Amino acid sequence: MPADPVPVLQKLFGFPDFRGVQRQVVDRVLAGQSTLAVMPTGAGKSLTYQLPATMLDGTCIVVSPLIALMHDQLRAAEAVGIRAATLTSVDENKAETRGRFLDGALDLLYVAPERASTADFRDLLDRGRVALFAIDEAHCVSEWGHDFRPDYRLLRPLLDRYEDVPRLALTATADEHTRADILEQLGIGTDGMIVAGFDRPNIRYSISTRDNTTRQIADLIRETPGPGIVYAQTRAGTEKLAEALRTATGRPVRAYHAGLDPEVRRRNQAKFVESEDMVIVATVAFGMGIDKPDVRFVAHAGLPKSIEAYYQETGRAGRDGDPSVAHLFWGAEDFARARQRIAEVDPQRQPGERARLNALGALVETAGCRRRILLAHFGEDPPAQCGNCDNCLSPPAAIDATETARKYLSAVFRTGQSFGSTYIEEVLTGKSSERSLMNGHEALSVWNIVDGDERALLKPVGRALLLRDALRTNPHGGLEFGPGARALIKGEDTLSLVVPPKRERRRRGGDAT
Ligand code: ADP
Ligand code: ZN
Repeated sequence: MPADPVPVLQKLFGFPDFRGVQRQVVDRVLAGQSTLAVMPTGAGKSLTYQLPATMLDGTCIVVSPLIALMHDQLRAAEAVGIRAATLTSVDENKAETRGRFLDGALDLLYVAPERASTADFRDLLDRGRVALFAIDEAHCVSEWGHDFRPDYRLLRPLLDRYEDVPRLALTATADEHTRADILEQLGIGTDGMIVAGFDRPNIRYSISTRDNTTRQIADLIRETPGPGIVYAQTRAGTEKLAEALRTATGRPVRAYHAGLDPEVRRRNQAKFVESEDMVIVATVAFGMGIDKPDVRFVAHAGLPKSIEAYYQETGRAGRDGDPSVAHLFWGAEDFARARQRIAEVDPQRQPGERARLNALGALVETAGCRRRILLAHFGEDPPAQCGNCDNCLSPPAAIDATETARKYLSAVFRTGQSFGSTYIEEVLTGKSSERSLMNGHEALSVWNIVDGDERALLKPVGRALLLRDALRTNPHGGLEFGPGARALIKGEDTLSLVVPPKRERRRRGGDAT
C-alpha cells in the first residue's frame, strides 16, 4: 500500500489539493505502474513526477529535450527543497552529480535523451538506484508528433533494461495517433493513459479570414482592454506589426523575437509580465515558461503550425479564469505556403504533416462550433455547441458554391495552370486587359462567365480551393491543380462556403458619427 501523497503535497509544495488528474497520475506512479499523462500546458505535469520522486526509494531520471528547460525545472525543484541535479554538456559539476546519484542523495536527475542513451549513462544507472523514468515532452518520440526528435527513439533499450522501474511519459500536445505511438514506442500499456480535460471555457474562440491584418488586429485590441499577445509569422513581421499597432491603437505595444538583443528581449518580457494593458507582438518562441495569468487576448496574424500549437498558444490567455479572447486571422496563402513546406520535408513525415494541416483546415473552414473541433481533436466528446465561439454566437450561413468552384477550376485549366488568382478572376469576369488580349484568353469558353452576385464568391472560392488542396501555387505564384481538383470537376465532390454574418456593423456605426 503506497503512502499517502497529500501530506507531502501540502508540506513540500504548499498546495492544499491535487488539481485535475494529478492525483490519478501520482497514484499510478506510486503503485509502480507505467503511465502516459496527457495534460494541457499549465495543468501541473512536473508535480506528477517530482512528488513521487521525493517519496520513492531511489532517483527519478527525467528525460527532457531542452537544457534551458531543465535548468528552469531544476531551480523550481530546488526552491521547494527537492534534491535535484542536471547532467548536461554545460554543467561543470558532472562528477559531483554522479557521486550524489550513486550515494542515493538525489530525488531527480535531469538528462537529455542523447546522453540518456549512452553506454556511460547506462553504466552509471547500473551502479545506483533508479525509482522512476519520467519522459517529458514525450510526443518527441513520435514521427506523428509535431516535434519529432530521433534521440527519443534511442531511449527504449535503457527503459527495457530496468523492467521493474515504472515509466511516466508526459505531454501536452498529442492527437490520438501520436498518443498511440507514444504508448507503443515507450512500451506503456494502453490502459496506462490518463488524459486531462482540455476545455478552457473562459476562452472565446474566433476565426476569420485576413483582409487587412493591422486594421483587424487593431480593432480587436481596441475592443479588448488588458494585456494581449499577437503571434506573427516572422521576426521582421513582429516589428512591423508592433509599430503599426502602436500607431493605430495608442496602446503600449512591443515586439519580441529570438533575433532581438537579449537585453531588449528580457526587458520587453519583464514589462509585459508587469503590465496591465501592454500588447506584445511575438513569434511563437514567446510564451514558453511565462506565467502571466491575466492575458486577455491572443491573436494569430497567420495560421499556426498545428491544432496542438494553436491550442497551446491560445492557452496563454485567461489562466486566471476570467473571460478572454483567442482570434485567428488566416489567408489562403498560409495554406499554400504550408503545403509547399510539406512537399520539402522527409517523405515519411509528409502524411502526418498533411493530416495536421487538414485538421487546421477543418477548424478554420467550419460553420460549426470551434471548441467542439478543438476538443474532439484531443479525444474528447464535447457538446455540439459551446455557446462561446464565433460560430455558436452568430451562426454563419453556408451556401453551395460548387458551380462557381467548377468554373474557377476550369479557368485555371484552360489558361494553362500558370496564372495567379487575380488574373483568373479577370478572365472569369471578362475584365479585358493587354494581357488577356495577348494571351488570346478572351476567346476561351470560360471568358466572362461569372457576373452579378457570383463575383463576390470568387475570392472565397479561390481560398477554399487552395485550402483543400484542389489548387496549389507554383513557385511563381501561378495556380495549378492539386489532388482535390478532380472530384470537384467530375461532380463527385461539392464545395460549400461559410458566409460570416455581416461584419463590421460597429465600424459603420463609427463612421457615421
Ligand atoms: P505544465 O508542465 O503542465 O505546463 P507546470 O508543472 O509548470 O505545468 O505547473 C503549472 C503551474 O501550476 C505551476 O506554477 C505549479 O506550481 C502550479 N501547480 C501545479 N500543481 C498544482 C496544484 N495541485 N495546486 C495548485 N497549483 C499547482
Ligand atoms: Zn462553439
